[in-house]
Amino acid sequence: MLCMCADTVSQSIGRFAPSPTGPLHTGSLVAAVGSWLLAKTRGGRWLLRIDDLDRDRCRTAFEDDILRTLERFGLLWDGAITRQSGNTAAYAEAFERLRQCGAVYPCGCSRAEIARIASAPHLGEEIPYPGTCRAGLPAERVPRAWRLRTQGAMVTFDDLRHGRMTHDFANSGDFVIRRAEGFFAYQLAVVVDDHLSGINQVVRGDDLLDSTPRQVLLHHLLGWPLPQYCHLPLVTGPHGGKLSKRDNTVSLADGRVAGQESALLAWALEFLGLAVPAALQGAGCNALLDWAQTAFSWELLPRPR
Ligand code: GLU
Repeated sequence: MLCMCADTVSQSIGRFAPSPTGPLHTGSLVAAVGSWLLAKTRGGRWLLRIDDLDRDRCRTAFEDDILRTLERFGLLWDGAITRQSGNTAAYAEAFERLRQCGAVYPCGCSRAEIARIASAPHLGEEIPYPGTCRAGLPAERVPRAWRLRTQGAMVTFDDLRHGRMTHDFANSGDFVIRRAEGFFAYQLAVVVDDHLSGINQVVRGDDLLDSTPRQVLLHHLLGWPLPQYCHLPLVTGPHGGKLSKRDNTVSLADGRVAGQESALLAWALEFLGLAVPAALQGAGCNALLDWAQTAFSWELLPRPR
């Protein structure tokens, strides 16, 4: 079992890493405020990274809109903005290190083939990889992707809100870290990005909790220190489902919520467990953030259900 605990850190370095595939919504506001608070209450830095790995879906107009939205809420990042599109050489280098030590292998299976082999129905879930190409690419197969050899590892890590989490890779199997056409997968990219920026606090929504064991395993294989993780509750939509960027009712797109920023910020702070004092009702974003910095503690976060 790999039991990974975050190092004791001198200065907190957190980040917010939106994908510019749409405007921010109230769910992303919670992730931004939560990561900002955790970094700032520890006297740390809060970095902004634009996750533009998926070139087909990312738009510069959305990126501009995200930056303006953060500014309107008073969420100002430290230092220069980084972009995944600028880190490709580092992804290739990390991939090469993993390839050279035999930790990755080419896989020729399509999603449909994997679904056919996997016995149980996995509707809407990720299908566990049955290991078809693990011992070598079968004859007349062309590689479609590169997978990480997880060797049935058990990974354990601590999450501030969820406590100790354990994942058994025997159940989920080897995962893709690079497509045959050369694109690097999110799991590898985010580990490299966080390492390059010296991130030691990863605060984001619960929708990414399932990805974390993969990232923990990659940190371990690359010999990099593990950040501290904190996964925040998800804001659910009008029908109880996860919010998406297409959910216009909660979009924070430029101008859409003009004049309501401080009310929305107060709502996000309450969502994260803070009780905004009556004296601050109607206060501006900067006053709310100044107060929240002194009042917030991760122990106030709503408990996982
Ligand atoms: N870019 C991802 C998103 O917008 C977040 C990545 C992360 O926080 O690790 O959902």
